[in-house]
Amino acid sequence: MMRVLWSTTKFYFWLTPSDSVSTILQNQIKFMFKKILIANRGEIALRIIRTCREMGIKTVAVYSTADRDSLHVRFADEAVCIGPPASAQSYLNIQRLLAAVEITNADAIHPGYGFLSENAQFAEICTQYGVKFIGPTPAQIRKMGDKITAKETMIAAGVPVVPGSGGLLKDVVSGKRIAADIGYPVILKATAGGGGKGMRIVLEEQQFENQWNTARAEAKASFGNDGIYIEKYVEEPRHIEFQVAGDRFGTVCHLSERDCSIQRRHQKLVEESPSPFMTPELREEMGNAAVKAAQYINYEGVGTIEFLVDKHRNFYFMEMNTRIQVEHPVTEEVIDYDLIKEQIKIAAGIPISGKNYYPEMWAMECRINAEDPFNDFRPHPGKITSLHTPKGHGVRVDTHVYSGYTVPPYYDSMIAKLICRARTREECITKMERSLDEFIIEGIKTTVPFHQRLMRNENFRKGNFHTGFLNTWDFKKEL
Ligand code: ADP
Repeated sequence: MMRVLWSTTKFYFWLTPSDSVSTILQNQIKFMFKKILIANRGEIALRIIRTCREMGIKTVAVYSTADRDSLHVRFADEAVCIGPPASAQSYLNIQRLLAAVEITNADAIHPGYGFLSENAQFAEICTQYGVKFIGPTPAQIRKMGDKITAKETMIAAGVPVVPGSGGLLKDVVSGKRIAADIGYPVILKATAGGGGKGMRIVLEEQQFENQWNTARAEAKASFGNDGIYIEKYVEEPRHIEFQVAGDRFGTVCHLSERDCSIQRRHQKLVEESPSPFMTPELREEMGNAAVKAAQYINYEGVGTIEFLVDKHRNFYFMEMNTRIQVEHPVTEEVIDYDLIKEQIKIAAGIPISGKNYYPEMWAMECRINAEDPFNDFRPHPGKITSLHTPKGHGVRVDTHVYSGYTVPPYYDSMIAKLICRARTREECITKMERSLDEFIIEGIKTTVPFHQRLMRNENFRKGNFHTGFLNTWDFKKEL
């Protein structure tokens, strides 16, 4: 049985569990969104527009005055200026986004990553307003958005988590007591954390107070919430995450892993799938845990379960990202699957198949940032005077920049993602090396030279690395 819900200008529908899959499939075209507003900018806005085009869905770009000349503005069917450069007055301004929905009559919003993508209140307001938020429900975002609640939920689901305080730390004295119980080294983490901020490693008790003050100040400044919890610091771990997808009928599957251990200050620089550390047994175990985690909260949408894996291949849940990830293309390349399309279909109520996907190829992504790697990765916005992007078999470049484009100083410094795909890891690295050599960006400094050196590093080539790898290797000394 199918019921149709009408709101003023848009319609919604839901399907009861008794609906047969064939009825749902027969109706899927009829109920696909007609117009999606993309509440984001840069490469991800363009990436979403591409899939919408292929699905026959119209798109609305929103932009700040700093992004007037952006490609997402040019390639969307409609574009609405939503304010000045500052994110708070444009991409994070819910009222202006809803006004853009109103004037364009969009029936869904895709939040991309960052900005409002994991903001439960925004998802809730969208629902109240009668526009579909392409992502999980506000309750699911809330449950996973707060890291302490997420860990508690995973403990209840029977998924292994990093040993830790299991709640917010009250003060330095009790914090020190808990740290001594867990055993040094420990890591202080912001419960509202993200992007590696508000996180401090404490090697011994003498450092505790200093690191506690720094973590709290950073958390307060970045998230307006200085709640801190404590975890055992897993030494020399791998960051391995599982892509999952779930639909509103309770079906959940995983799409294998990505290894994101090449990080600088807890921020990812290179991602690959599969992980060179993975074994078929571990993939089975971690994949099952990821599915169990998503199933426990009836997860609806695509999401990522992040784990830390120690050298003995013990794995621990770290957090769940309830949105599309920057590094989603490596998964798309190894299993030949459009994750944005999947997100849109799930949001439209189309059931997923439920089968797990396993990598058939090797893919790697280098994040190309407008930063000077020889100057402590300092942001380097400015005008791109000349641009040539690599091409050829197995090479994908997701970018919003072009020759003559000015990288604004207001947003994230990532300007492109270079993704290579090949049959083996060795071939993939060779392809990446040749593609990086072909990448010409003039006028600004970028992280291309860093990646070139990394691809030549012997330990990296052997798959012999962990999240602290960049602290142990001075790439500037390499030729
Ligand atoms: P964020 O949400 O800020 O990205 P995460 O919780 O995902 O923070 O952690 C980011 C990175 O920090 C991880 O990939 C890992 O390198 C490091 N990290 C986090 N928790 C621990 C831990 N308990 N032990 C060791 N490293 C950790």
